[in-house]
Amino acid sequence: MKAVIYEKKGRVRLVEKPMPTIQEPRDAIVKVMRASICSSDLHIRNGGVPRAKEGVVLGHEFAGEIVETGSGVKKFSVGDRVAVNVESFCGECFFCRRGFVNNCVEGGWELGCRIDGGQAEYVRVPTADMSCTRIPDAISYEQALFVGDVLATGYWAAGIGEIQPADVVLVLGAGPTGLTTMMSARLFGPAVIVASDVNEERLALAKARGLCDVTINPKKQDVVEAVRGLTDGRGADVVFEVAGAKNTFELAWRAARPNAVVVVVALYEEAQTIPLHRMYGKNLTFKTGGVDASKCSEIMRLIEAGRLDTSLMITHRTPLNDIMQGYDIFANQKEGCIKWVVTPFEADKPIPGETF
Ligand SMILES: [Zn+2]
Ligand SMILES: [Zn+2]
Repeated sequence: MKAVIYEKKGRVRLVEKPMPTIQEPRDAIVKVMRASICSSDLHIRNGGVPRAKEGVVLGHEFAGEIVETGSGVKKFSVGDRVAVNVESFCGECFFCRRGFVNNCVEGGWELGCRIDGGQAEYVRVPTADMSCTRIPDAISYEQALFVGDVLATGYWAAGIGEIQPADVVLVLGAGPTGLTTMMSARLFGPAVIVASDVNEERLALAKARGLCDVTINPKKQDVVEAVRGLTDGRGADVVFEVAGAKNTFELAWRAARPNAVVVVVALYEEAQTIPLHRMYGKNLTFKTGGVDASKCSEIMRLIEAGRLDTSLMITHRTPLNDIMQGYDIFANQKEGCIKWVVTPFEADKPIPGETF
């Protein structure tokens, strides 16, 4: 089968690989119907994820059909349509029981990082009962594609942001994770969502689709001043740093009001500085880290209810064969690309909700 591998720092390649097989009783084999490229794949390619293994099949955001199950899989059977979670987790350890599945003693972010992932025709999914989320009949693979990673991340970020009704929320970065953070933040009832990005096209899209209310381009406007202008000089009540650019961490805490929560979602490739002497008395709360994708069923219900909709993010759709072109276009934000989606198989039977 075809699959994209992380060969070594700076190089990813589409290659032929043997079909995956069941290795543990809790494994399932998933036929990949839709997969995407995530910015974390670019971080791996750039050598920015030390735990990523050379030779691994990339891809941790995908949806497909279960074609084989191990003897220990209880909740799913062959033919089930599922979205797969970026994190593999046991559901039983200290961390899992508290919802911190990113820190599962048996897993965490494994797929497409330490074990073969979903930019392929087939993939072995460990701990399938925990890592798969059933896709309701009315929902298409594309609607469900982001449930396990980028949407889970935005939803998790918004959830830990402690947003109060009528807050002014600042989201730095209007890429895929920024957009899902905005749409998830909306669920908590803030008065104003402010989006900041240097990409005008992305800002315009976020505004046009109602994900944010105010846009700021740091190339044209001072972000801190603009946010203060919206908050009687206080600063944002909650800040989400999703951009991960050179100066955005500093921007995040500077734009926050005293006693704000600053959620750092971005995955940096370099160390960041926290100059405590400059923020003394500001009494900020920082929350950092990788997504705990433990609420995928909840997210799926919100999609089904029409409360979350990521369809605006799919700007490109190609066969798996063309994914290398996707790496270039997605990485360099060419052609207005937000998400590059591959279709390893065209649906061989009509799938409810599938639009093409
Ligand atoms: Zn990702
Ligand atoms: Zn666990």
